[in-house]
Amino acid sequence: MSFDHTVDVLVVGSGGGALTSAIAAQANNADVLVVEKSDQYGGTSAMSGGSIWIPNSHLSGPAGGEDSREAALEYILTSVGEKADRKRVEAYVDFGPRMLKFLEENTHVIFECQPYSDYYPELPGGKRGYRTHEPYPMHARVLGKDFETMRMPHHAIVVMDRYSMNNVEGKYLLTQAPGWQKVMAKLMARYWFDIPMRLRGKRDGRLTMGNALIGRLRWSLNDRKIPVWLSAPMRELIIEGNRVRGAVVEKDGKLMRIEARSGVIMGAGGFEHDQSMRDQYLPKPTSTDWSASNTNNTGDGIKLGMAAGAATDLMEHAWWIPVIPVPGIPRPWAIFAERSLPGLVMVDSKGQRFTNEAAPYLEAGAAIGAHHSAEASSVPAYCIFDNTFRRKYPFGPLGPGAVMPDSTLPPGIHKGIMHKAETLAELAKSIGVDPAGLEDTVRKNNDYAASGKDPDFQRGDSYYDRYYGDSTHQPSPCIGPIEQAPYYAIALYPGDIGTKGGLLTDENARVLDKNGNVMEGLYAIGNTAASMMGTKYPGAGSTIGPSMVFGYIAARHATRAND
Ligand code: FAD
Repeated sequence: MSFDHTVDVLVVGSGGGALTSAIAAQANNADVLVVEKSDQYGGTSAMSGGSIWIPNSHLSGPAGGEDSREAALEYILTSVGEKADRKRVEAYVDFGPRMLKFLEENTHVIFECQPYSDYYPELPGGKRGYRTHEPYPMHARVLGKDFETMRMPHHAIVVMDRYSMNNVEGKYLLTQAPGWQKVMAKLMARYWFDIPMRLRGKRDGRLTMGNALIGRLRWSLNDRKIPVWLSAPMRELIIEGNRVRGAVVEKDGKLMRIEARSGVIMGAGGFEHDQSMRDQYLPKPTSTDWSASNTNNTGDGIKLGMAAGAATDLMEHAWWIPVIPVPGIPRPWAIFAERSLPGLVMVDSKGQRFTNEAAPYLEAGAAIGAHHSAEASSVPAYCIFDNTFRRKYPFGPLGPGAVMPDSTLPPGIHKGIMHKAETLAELAKSIGVDPAGLEDTVRKNNDYAASGKDPDFQRGDSYYDRYYGDSTHQPSPCIGPIEQAPYYAIALYPGDIGTKGGLLTDENARVLDKNGNVMEGLYAIGNTAASMMGTKYPGAGSTIGPSMVFGYIAARHATRAND
């Protein structure tokens, strides 16, 4: 076989897992090349919250948590249920803390352990905090010109399309917690006083969340002189016998045969932006327009793996989330947490509720799709709230009305997505929802607001629901009355932040064929692999966490690390 270029490890994609694997392989003396399809690196990982869910880490105890290997295993196995592969779960729990330590000791990638609740904290082994880790903010200047080619954060996690925030700051602003004005003033001052960055452009030089994660990883790759080829998509796998020898990569319009002596690690994302794969595998209706992720994730790694004989799993599942497609904004707005705030209901075309609005976003997004039927349409579902809610809280692209009144909203929001009326009946008619059904639902909601209990869907019962509720609201931080005109409605669709299905892998991230045999030389991580979390989302950071941990494991396996 002839090759145009030879390395030990070829890493495909540049999300959090891919870049972690590149560093881990190089740390074990491998010659590494990263190839990225788009002209920007970082993938959806760069657009994201950047949090990773790593139970039982060395950072948990000092931060105020208490955890153990046993509790972590019990929680994952219980929450994931029958889809849990014990060997992969054990590898995750054992190597997660090691991966964190490795990065801390060998790179610029440092994390802070957060009091963010597990998504099912009441399950055995569940915790009310300190398993989610957020990357420390950093300044863009250390990246030099590479800052310009890092993918931008998603709109939903940048304040007023300008100011970067971290998760703690975000919680203050979202729930309008006491002191939020101070937090906002600090974000603004930091931004406007950063004169060198203001002279360069609009983008904030303080990198947080996913941009801090990818920025810190890229800074570390640069220190180690690991090359990253942009606009260099993998087009084919090169296979000899039952071993993957490398891949064909397009560069500057030419196809290059790259030999990877120790292995190819594919972290090329899921298939959420391939409409034909969505139509084939995901529940209907489904649209690429409802995916908040980066548009380059078109299932390339999954398709090439399948063509080579790999087995797949979970292809009908995604990391679901309710989304609002907003005219003029490239990706839909993902509604992560504002559903927990008091004073809203989410209804179907009959005007009836069908789920706990404050549930973790995977559950809420999945419910919108699963409930949809000829009798009761929930695609879209509508979130209904009143003037009190509108004035006080942000919701998706709507800032709180007290600081961003309706008259100041851009036309895409004001005329495009927001419905408003003086009565609930008028509002219902304008969105094609049954008026009597909606009035009845709101009446019930107002009773539940008074008692603080939701006997229909238990909204506010879980500690997780309350985490993003309004702690100053009584008796429940998650249930409030809807009673003051005007009334508002916003359509929500069953969107995603990536797909969950992909190539079946073992505890070393090696791709398996349909007979359960290892495909030598081929590794899959992130959303290119079928998720080890099955159909669930145990805690914040359950997509990038496994991607980085299995990226670390894959690199160690490929380079035969034995420490
Ligand atoms: P990506 O990070 O998307 O990386 C895949 C890369 O592969 C892309 O750069 C793509 O261009 C490249 N690629 C594709 N095909 C090829 C090819 N043929 N050749 C070469 N390169 C290719 N998850 C969390 O765990 N924690 C969070 O806090 C979090 N917050 C989120 C917030 C938002 C707003 C969004 C949208 C998502 C969030 N997620 C979060 C989800 C998470 O970001 C993604 O699930 C995760 O980043 C996927 O990682 P990945 O490595 O599989 O894909």
